[in-house]
Amino acid sequence: MTELIQNGYSCPREMRLFYDLFFSEDEDVCIIQNFSYENKTINVYTQIIFNSRSYFEDYYFEFDRDNKSEKLIKKIFIAACTRSFSHAAMKIRKINFSWGVMSGIRPAKNVRELMEEGYSSDEVRDIFKNVYEVSDEKTELAMTVAGNERELLSRIGKNSVSLYVGIPFCPTRCVYCSFVSADMRISGKYMDEFCEKLLLEIEKTKELIDEVGAYVENIYIGGGTPTTLSAEQSDMILKKLNEYFVSDKLVEFTVEAGRPDTITREKLDVLKKYGVNRISINPQSMNAVTLKKIGRSHTVDMIYDAFSTAREVGFDIINTDLIAGLPDETPEMFKNSLERVIELKPENITVHSLCLKRAASFRHTENELAKSEYMNEMLSYIRKRMKDEGYDPYYMYRQKNSSGNLENVGYAKPGTMSAYNVNIMEEKQTIIAMGGGGSSKVVMGSRIERVFNFKDPLEYIRRFDDILKKKDEIKGLIMNG
Ligand code: SF4
Repeated sequence: MTELIQNGYSCPREMRLFYDLFFSEDEDVCIIQNFSYENKTINVYTQIIFNSRSYFEDYYFEFDRDNKSEKLIKKIFIAACTRSFSHAAMKIRKINFSWGVMSGIRPAKNVRELMEEGYSSDEVRDIFKNVYEVSDEKTELAMTVAGNERELLSRIGKNSVSLYVGIPFCPTRCVYCSFVSADMRISGKYMDEFCEKLLLEIEKTKELIDEVGAYVENIYIGGGTPTTLSAEQSDMILKKLNEYFVSDKLVEFTVEAGRPDTITREKLDVLKKYGVNRISINPQSMNAVTLKKIGRSHTVDMIYDAFSTAREVGFDIINTDLIAGLPDETPEMFKNSLERVIELKPENITVHSLCLKRAASFRHTENELAKSEYMNEMLSYIRKRMKDEGYDPYYMYRQKNSSGNLENVGYAKPGTMSAYNVNIMEEKQTIIAMGGGGSSKVVMGSRIERVFNFKDPLEYIRRFDDILKKKDEIKGLIMNG
């Protein structure tokens, strides 16, 4: 963006998000915006100068700010600015706009916050439609997710915390990976030492939890790929977690087994032995050609094998992850993956929209537009198929970098929704992270404090004293919160 001038109200961060949907970094664009609020009416006049031409939008919106919180007023003002800008920019380029000018990545949280302001469901729908210009379909999705989240959040126990354990190793690196993970072929030599340190961190966390008088409601082991640990390494870590934190108050104990090539019966037996009651087996695609293309070192048959072994061992809540929009996948290929996964009858299915890497030169091509439209159609199709099969959407977040900022949605059969996934989204329960790449979130009323663990396994090992100090920091935050 060459120049952004905002008079009357300024929201450069949100303007940047929408700018990035329309323009590339190297384009010469000047945006001038005048904002006013008079007689209960917002007026935002936008001028965009691009390629020696000017494009205008004059936007009016009636809004009575009396008795509204500062937070809501800010949201409405920002929406007015981004909407005025987007309408002017639409005169230059068309983009997928199914989420309208909603800039946050958690639409269901918006629903909840509006309801906390006293708005009824119908009024929230009205704001989604008329202020943010969210499509009816996405509005209903957000409303359904918010309803399910509300139910799960109401079950959070007083003084409860969740634990996250990050195992930052993977067998190979997937081409689209945006997570914290080290390729085992390079970093595998650090795994033993990583596990030794992790056991010490678990002990320190146990002391912390006892000292602040909390108890553990959910444990989530993620990564990376936790099942890259050997059965012996898993046994040591899970034994300790079980000994310290598994009680009759523990609701969920989840291990993201992840990639089928790392799952063995021996490892699944270990998980079962120590009380794990949910696992995730993530095919991402059921098409062999795609698996190869995205750098996964497993076959489709290995997905079936891992799934049936998990059932034999006794896991009755299994999540599967799929990705829509993988390289060169046609709608038929994605539908094939979805149908094959449905046949497996997992209790949860999570569908991600592939997050495109920031590639400004690539973003605004016809191809890209077509892809975002295709993705949107695909997400509607998935939603319908999930409904037919008895799955309900219960958590959702939008991908910041994806075209159209499309959503990732977790679907679940009745009674199998994961409270931990919702806690992560809604930030209503303190989460204490251990291991590589985790971030602890200490909920202090309406404030959240974050404390980050190191991402790189070697740094985690070398700077382990700092990891222990971070636990003291978390203890201080919880005690003062
Ligand atoms: S399995 Fe997940 S964490 Fe590991 S490389 Fe692939 S996307 Fe990244």
